[in-house]
Amino acid sequence: MANQDDKFKKVIAHAKEYGYIFQSSEIYDGLSAVYDYGQNGVELKNNIRDYWWKSMVQMHQNIVGLDSAIFMHPTTWKASGHVDAFNDPLIDNKDSKKRYRADVLIEDHAEKLLIKAKKEINKAAKRFGDAFDEEQYRTTNPRVVGYLQKRDEILARMGKSLENEDLEDVKALIEELEIADPETGSRNWTEVRQFNLMFGTKLGASADSAMDLYLRPETAQGIFVNFLNVQKTGRMKIPFGIAQTGKAFRNEIVARQFIFRMREFEQMEMQFFVQPGEELKWYEYWKDTRLKWHLSLGMGEENYRFHDHDKLAHYANAAADIEFNFPFGFKELEGIHSRTDFDLKAHEEYSGKKLKFFDPQRNESYVPYVVETSIGLDRMFLAVFSNSLKEEVLDDGSTRTVLKLPSILAPTKVAVFPLVKKDGLPEIAQEIIDNLKWDLTVLYDEKDAVGKRYRRQDAAGTPYCITVDHQTLEDQTVTLRERDSMAQRRIKIDDLEDILRAELSMKRWLD
Ligand code: ATP
Repeated sequence: MANQDDKFKKVIAHAKEYGYIFQSSEIYDGLSAVYDYGQNGVELKNNIRDYWWKSMVQMHQNIVGLDSAIFMHPTTWKASGHVDAFNDPLIDNKDSKKRYRADVLIEDHAEKLLIKAKKEINKAAKRFGDAFDEEQYRTTNPRVVGYLQKRDEILARMGKSLENEDLEDVKALIEELEIADPETGSRNWTEVRQFNLMFGTKLGASADSAMDLYLRPETAQGIFVNFLNVQKTGRMKIPFGIAQTGKAFRNEIVARQFIFRMREFEQMEMQFFVQPGEELKWYEYWKDTRLKWHLSLGMGEENYRFHDHDKLAHYANAAADIEFNFPFGFKELEGIHSRTDFDLKAHEEYSGKKLKFFDPQRNESYVPYVVETSIGLDRMFLAVFSNSLKEEVLDDGSTRTVLKLPSILAPTKVAVFPLVKKDGLPEIAQEIIDNLKWDLTVLYDEKDAVGKRYRRQDAAGTPYCITVDHQTLEDQTVTLRERDSMAQRRIKIDDLEDILRAELSMKRWLD
């Protein structure tokens, strides 16, 4: 645990030191769970968004984009169920005065049982060597079976209690499991209460005519209310999707995990409209497709897992999370939800307008079912950033800090150095920059020894460095150095563009 905490602290410190993430309003001591993206952060964030957008919209002939407003008519949130049901169960510790989400306390407890089971399995794997059959051990070893059964029981009971709004049982479960305040160890809890996560605001100047509004807690509803606009004007045929990225706001109860859980954050969502009855087929398709997108970034298959929901939201008939191995353990990164026709039907009812698709092949109209994929851009940023930050011991015994960002996402793609600040080398470096900057983000650095400049770019996440030296004057070649392998190659200046373009193309990464 101490190790995890250390790693996470390093991530946060590095994000600040290299201009990725600053606390919002820092000079006023910050604002809780709100963050700003610095000069490198904004580039990384834009690149992640772009990578998602291209994989969704550009790569699918039947998916189009949308940019709907943050403010929406207040009835939207009545229809969607957010006014009545967008709650989290909260619990306070009477001694520490700290506030927690009751469901998260229970989930964390259940996760510990899973970790215990995994430890037993790993120990046995070592003992038995090649002859080890994990599946058999998992289902027959009494200790492992006990841990896993207990975990399933806990999650199932919590899911049921939350579904039935039985908050007393949620509290009882916390007491039975003897769950303590993770920070102080106290077990002196209040009752569990529901807390609505939407931020309210007002539209209009005078008190009597002002209208109560909400800041949208998800981007999805903007897509639902525009469903027919897009379908008709884009002449879209089912199945088709609408993708959108944008800010969402939630008054989160607990916000102590950096950009993992923010009060203002950005979502990347895609709603896929399908024929009723075909939704589970498409649900499987999107689970598979989204996992492949994550794996394309090369951050390690072992760092992802699916988690099927025990407690389904009021609108869903199937739901799973893609969880990622964050510095504080496996947590939700993305949700894939089969939302049925809940949203469109509700908007039909509340607006009195038809939201049906006329299917020319079947010669009938129906309200489509929806499968959505929903990922937090900031959470994806944290996954990429924390996974990339490494301390490496080199052959000579020294260490280097390196941010091994997938190069397609890196803020600066190439740094160009003249070996010395004279003999015409800076001018050649500048010429190289002027040639590459059309398609790539490029940076010039002439300060300090080259070794030091390499280290600086390693820590900032720049995948390639180019050094211009005296040999360049003779044969028009430069050194191309790769961040991860630290390998250096001599390359003709004329070949740089083609080589870098090939390495950094969307096709090479996404395909
Ligand atoms: P959680 O259980 O972590 O609160 P959720 O299930 O409420 O998340 P969804 O409503 O499914 O989340 O939102 C879809 C995605 O939006 C999440 O998978 C996550 O990546 C992102 N997200 C949700 N809430 C936040 C937040 N407060 N800060 C950053 N990202 C968030």
